Amino acid sequence: MTLRTVTLLTARALSHDVRSLTFDAGEGFAYTPGQWVSLKLPRADGSTLARSYSIASAPRADGRFEIAVTRVEGGEGSTWLHAVEPGATLAMSEPAGFFTLPEVLERPLLLVATGTGVAPIRAMIQHLDAQGSTVPLTLLFGVRTPGDVIFEDEFRELAARRANVRFEPTLSRAPDGYTGRTGYVQTHLAALVHDLGGDCEVYVCGLNAMIREVRRTLKEELGFTRERIHTERYD
Ligand SMILES: Cc1cc2nc3c(=O)[nH]c(=O)nc-3n(C[C@H](O)[C@H](O)[C@H](O)COP(=O)(O)OP(=O)(O)OC[C@H]3O[C@@H](n4cnc5c(N)ncnc54)[C@H](O)[C@@H]3O)c2cc1C
Repeated sequence: MTLRTVTLLTARALSHDVRSLTFDAGEGFAYTPGQWVSLKLPRADGSTLARSYSIASAPRADGRFEIAVTRVEGGEGSTWLHAVEPGATLAMSEPAGFFTLPEVLERPLLLVATGTGVAPIRAMIQHLDAQGSTVPLTLLFGVRTPGDVIFEDEFRELAARRANVRFEPTLSRAPDGYTGRTGYVQTHLAALVHDLGGDCEVYVCGLNAMIREVRRTLKEELGFTRERIHTERYD
């Protein structure tokens, strides 16, 4: 496997348990939005721990890219990435994965994510925005509380600026008086698919329990065939 060395440029908290890390991979670093990389994290004993992260930003000429890491309780890799300081260098695999959009979009898009599952979807959305795409697109983003809606300002700004983009966060632990969508993502699929005209491509990213429920709802309740459902699971 070919490895390249990347340098951590900046780190910032996106929420109480998600950290954004921006790396410099050098000019010529190319990938397709939706792909992931495997970072080789150094251990005290000299060995390395490989962990995969979706690239959360669209490709740039200067080779910089961002990831968003959820801190998992007791998780060795994510704990390390929540502590690492700018200036650190890491070995990294070349981008991989098939959770990517086709070059020509023939149908509206329903993009469904929970937690940092929104990372590859953000890369896709940034890319479509840069291309000036007018394909109808709905982002259904499930998290627990208002403070967990990472990249919220960015998604709201995009939806306000582009008539084809709709942003629909849903909270599973909404505070009293919250007036937006609540509950799990799968409970909102029927309405959002309907609003997109019924015939759309669905991209789903996050933990497997959510993906399973979304797939089941799409197939059994909404008549989707497997070809229209594209998934990336983190566990
Ligand atoms: C293709 C791919 C892309 C991925 N992209 C991302 C990403 O962009 N951001 C990210 O935070 N993680 C991502 N992951 C998960 C990541 O690779 C690690 O599994 C995660 O950081 C936990 O590693 P750890 O060593 O801290 O914990 P470990 O001790 O290895 O514990 C792993 C357990 O953590 C849980 N877990 C894994 N990912 C998450 C998560 N995001 N939120 C909550 N619980 C989780 C699962 O139950 C899993 O069994 C991705 C995984 C894959 C396979």
